[in-house]
Amino acid sequence: MIFDIYVIVILFVLGLVMGSFFMVVGSRLPKNESIVKPRSHCDNCGHILKWYELIPVLSYVLQFGKCSRCHAKLSIMYPLIEVLNGFLFSLSYALYGFSYEMIAFLIISSILILVFVSDFQYMIILDEPLIIGSVIILLLKLYYFGFNTFTRSIYSGLIMFVFMLLVKLFGDKAFKRESLGGGDVKLVTFFGFVFGVRLSFVSVVLGSFLAFPYAIFCSLSKKNREVPFGPFLILALLIVFIYMEPIKEFLNLFVYGF
Ligand SMILES: [Zn+2]
Repeated sequence: MIFDIYVIVILFVLGLVMGSFFMVVGSRLPKNESIVKPRSHCDNCGHILKWYELIPVLSYVLQFGKCSRCHAKLSIMYPLIEVLNGFLFSLSYALYGFSYEMIAFLIISSILILVFVSDFQYMIILDEPLIIGSVIILLLKLYYFGFNTFTRSIYSGLIMFVFMLLVKLFGDKAFKRESLGGGDVKLVTFFGFVFGVRLSFVSVVLGSFLAFPYAIFCSLSKKNREVPFGPFLILALLIVFIYMEPIKEFLNLFVYGF
């Protein structure tokens, strides 16, 4: 019990730090900026942050959400993303203990945060986290479940890739504009590696439902016609991952009759 709390606290702190790192990666890579240079700075006055101003959440609270030099407001996105990431990291252990599921959950939630940051800000889904995540997931499957599961996961990813590519090609023709981004196609390929084909389809359908209210809101407010689909897709992936067993049971019921 004490040990569990200890691990959860450690993971929470690690999650805060990684969340802060993901914010930098998700904000800079889409603009082709280096992750290490320039050092973190205030967007308003260029003030280079001192080490104690880089401590996740704490620095934001101690500075009352303002830059220490020019007093410009700092984005609330930073502490929010950091805390959310800390929560997800500790949730991984609380739900699964030390296991394949825990590591997979850590990878999925990290990609979720990165996709949130880059897709909402720039409508870009970064390749790097998806490639790294896919490789780690596939190697984990090879290690934990053996070669058959490994190859089946690769096939599932390829099937999802071809499926999404076809949807995109038909969609682009039908709507005469880009219907799905290339990033969405790659994202769902990652789903195939994680889940296999059936649960990937469930995630895509769920993601569409989750995106629907936001899409309506966007078209009503007429501010931005383009809706980032990625964050909703990966949120759906996380939900399906947590409720995998009941969803599988439901699918079996559906396929084999009541
Ligand atoms: Zn400043």
